Amino acid sequence: MWFKGPDFLSKEPAGWPKKFIDCDEEVPLEVFDRCKTVNTISAVADCTPTECLNYFSSLCRLKIATAWFTRFRVFMKNRMCNPHQKTPRNPLTVIELREAEISWVKYIQRQHFAQWIGDKRRIVGKTSIDKLNPLLVGILRVGGRLEKASLGFETKHPIILPKLSHFTHLIVRDSQVKCGHSGLNHTLVVLCQRYWVIGATATVRRIINQCNKCRLKTAKPGKQLMTELPDSRLQLGFPPFAHVGVGYFGPLMVRQSRSELKRNGCLFTCMTTRAVRLEVARDLSIAALTQFAVLLLVEAWCQSRIKG
Ligand SMILES: [Zn+2]
Repeated sequence: MWFKGPDFLSKEPAGWPKKFIDCDEEVPLEVFDRCKTVNTISAVADCTPTECLNYFSSLCRLKIATAWFTRFRVFMKNRMCNPHQKTPRNPLTVIELREAEISWVKYIQRQHFAQWIGDKRRIVGKTSIDKLNPLLVGILRVGGRLEKASLGFETKHPIILPKLSHFTHLIVRDSQVKCGHSGLNHTLVVLCQRYWVIGATATVRRIINQCNKCRLKTAKPGKQLMTELPDSRLQLGFPPFAHVGVGYFGPLMVRQSRSELKRNGCLFTCMTTRAVRLEVARDLSIAALTQFAVLLLVEAWCQSRIKG
């Protein structure tokens, strides 16, 4: 799609270039005979694979995009030999997705462990993966000491990944999703089934701290600022139950002679001493509550008199 035409179109027709064919002139038929339809594709690579990689925030989407691109590249390559080849429209296969992932692993390892991928005689001094006894099987894997263990090949020889890479970030986030945003140890277990990340603990901890779902799961509830205590709880010199709080609970079944009656429990709380007193209320009416209140007032008055 053209958003802007050639510059000469914005000028007067007199200023246009003269090399165009005058439409009034008749075009010889020989010109049409020589015309052929040709499909051409031109593309300019204006970004590196690393920039393409940084564009993705999900390993799954990265693998899908890479698999489609790989299929398109193979299709165009084969079409040069066989122009009548049909366009493949079937969905992506698991093998294609797997190959897409492996292609990115190879690219990342060439960037960070180039000396191990190429001629090993060029290795000078110590490297960060010396202790892993690396094994080059198409891609760089951990040699380890588990060769005789009854485990799968990928578990015995996990793929080595650097800690500072966006691809490693995507792999760890994918492991996080697979284990349901569990904690550090569970994520490490899931990750180590296929990959060996240099400095995995610090990398996984950093990614967990950046994950919104993990931060929500581990967030502490906010503390509520309590209001000031009422004056009834701070007054001195009064007997217990001079100021009370009342609450009902129940209903409860109470046996009286041979019959069972439905009653409610009435809980009085002294607002000064936090002492409690239980009563059985015959119903939830104000009259029953008033009866208890009068009883408490009389007792409080008697206690204050005794104390005095
Ligand atoms: Zn998470």
